[in-house]
Amino acid sequence: MPPKESADLLIEARWVMPVAPVNTVLTDHAVAVTAGRIVALGPSAQLQARFEPRERVLRGEHALLPGFVNAHTRAAMTLLRDLPVYGPRMRWLWETVLPVEQRCMSPDFVRDGTQQAIAEMLRAGITSFADMYLFPEEAARVAGAARVRAAIGLPVADGPTPWESTTAHLANAERLWDEYQSDPWVSLYFAPRTPYALSDATLARVRRVADELDARVAMHISEYEVRRPLLRLQELGLLRPGFTAIQPRRLDEEDLEIITRTGICLVACPQANLRFGGELWPLAKLDAQHVSIGLGTDTAAAVGALDILAEARTAALIEHELASAEVLRMATLGGATALGLASLVGSIEPGKAADLVCFDLSTLPCQPCARPADAILFAATRNQVTDVWTSGRAAVSDGHLLAFDEQELRALARQWAERIRMGVAA
Ligand SMILES: [Zn+2]
Repeated sequence: MPPKESADLLIEARWVMPVAPVNTVLTDHAVAVTAGRIVALGPSAQLQARFEPRERVLRGEHALLPGFVNAHTRAAMTLLRDLPVYGPRMRWLWETVLPVEQRCMSPDFVRDGTQQAIAEMLRAGITSFADMYLFPEEAARVAGAARVRAAIGLPVADGPTPWESTTAHLANAERLWDEYQSDPWVSLYFAPRTPYALSDATLARVRRVADELDARVAMHISEYEVRRPLLRLQELGLLRPGFTAIQPRRLDEEDLEIITRTGICLVACPQANLRFGGELWPLAKLDAQHVSIGLGTDTAAAVGALDILAEARTAALIEHELASAEVLRMATLGGATALGLASLVGSIEPGKAADLVCFDLSTLPCQPCARPADAILFAATRNQVTDVWTSGRAAVSDGHLLAFDEQELRALARQWAERIRMGVAA
């Protein structure tokens, strides 16, 4: 018998759902990990014979999946979860959110809020997220320290903001770009505000800088656009495969044609959209046309939870033509594509980073468990996540969050809630 190969970690699970190829459920399979990367996926018996792992994790009633990807959020706003929510969205933002942000916005607010969000996301099996908020340097630092995969948006706005002028925004962005160019956890993208808030000149400038740096661009496409936003962005040269449109409203046939022709990615935030009375666009139709679709939570201040499984379930309930496996692909590989990370994460394939999540499917609501994809999507909750690894290191182990001190975070959230209630600046 040949000598066994060494491995850092061997995870054996009742089911492995690699996502690529889609709709595959492997029974009694295992994943071997070395130096943070997946080195093998195969039947447990085979990998036991082949590897001598330093650590072995047995999950006999569990499904192992790639970590979920939250393709759009505003992490720090988790601290604003206490605020009342009502529609329409713009009125809520102007009347309730903005005044609080103006009082509290600071590097500390973003640091503490992002920590809170990452802890919640890890517990929910989310190992990658795209953030779009202010003080990106704080969010980037927290994400890197917590060892989660983060795409951090570099804000671009016309007019004064905490980063002052548009020129200062872009100068700051370029500085951060150099700092994070080869970071293993953090990637950056340009996050201009919604098209209606930006001049053609600024958008053209963003395109030039993004082209120069080969950077991704992601934008919220608001329901308050005066001109056809996708057509306008296309005319300005912004729509290319490195562009992600977040929750665009009112997609008509012409928009669908622009999306398929330019190869842009889309991100749907089903719960936030429904909460403000929006319609969900034709996900099944777009998916059938091979448009890359990721799922996002948007802000926890609106939806209450950073829970990609709940977003996936909502999408599946609205779009009944979508199979569970397709929705789970959106929640993983689809999101990874929208973040520009599809070669690194989003599926369980040798060579990819070992960003993995384990669901306990032994609970009563998941019985009988003939179709694990359906059980995860329709019967399980994020509380059934028992283990989470990022680059092969456990962030959640057997139900315990290792990456953060939850008690400390709870105290911090309460302190911020008090400051917000008292109207005190940080
Ligand atoms: Zn948003």
